[in-house]
Amino acid sequence: MSLKICTLYPDLLGTYGDGGNALILDRRATWRGYEVERLAVRAGEPVPVADLYCIGGGEDGPQVRATALLKESGTLDGAVRDGAVLLAVCAGFQIIGRRFAAAEGRDVEGLGLLDVETVRSDEPRAVGEVTATLTASSLGHVPALSGFENHGGRTRLGAGVEPLAFVTKGVGNGFGGTEGAVAGRILATYLHGPVLARNPALADLLLTWALHVPELEPLDDALHDALRTERGL
Ligand code: GLN
Repeated sequence: MSLKICTLYPDLLGTYGDGGNALILDRRATWRGYEVERLAVRAGEPVPVADLYCIGGGEDGPQVRATALLKESGTLDGAVRDGAVLLAVCAGFQIIGRRFAAAEGRDVEGLGLLDVETVRSDEPRAVGEVTATLTASSLGHVPALSGFENHGGRTRLGAGVEPLAFVTKGVGNGFGGTEGAVAGRILATYLHGPVLARNPALADLLLTWALHVPELEPLDDALHDALRTERGL
């Protein structure tokens, strides 16, 4: 049986190159001999049942539209509650929360898969490079994270949601130095890059969840390591 990896609405939420996350997951699973089926669902198409979903970042308008489409479909909600893995980046992070603030102060109800809430802040938009130290105790060892952020919203985590990391540079969630969130098999972050290209250990973590294996055989990540060293990680 192949591992189904589905990118949600790359046409709406593809502004920051987050579609690359599914490609990284696909390659890292394929290199280890797993069979992968990579799917991309565009606006208006039905959302298939998959083992691992990726949802990326985008502008407020497409973000609101993607939220409405996902609510209408209900498939993501059901699949995640049935144990599918979900990687949600930036707008995706905000969408899967309880609510988020969109343009013109409009408050939009999210999917409620994650107990987080996104508000607008008077501070300037958070734009730039981020480094963060992983803290979520459930994740085992993952090296420091690197990525870039570009968002107006600030996300407050509810009880039962662990921060993914603490920022050492940049803004992240904008509350208490936290960055991203983890709950069950949902991993959310503000990091683009794409985040899994910059942080392959995070890709492997998601793959172990989706494949139901305790660990994966190591790959030659010398190129990634050189890039990370160049960025001071
Ligand atoms: N539109 C959202 C915000 O500005 C998300 C941006 C993004 O996905 N990069 O907060």
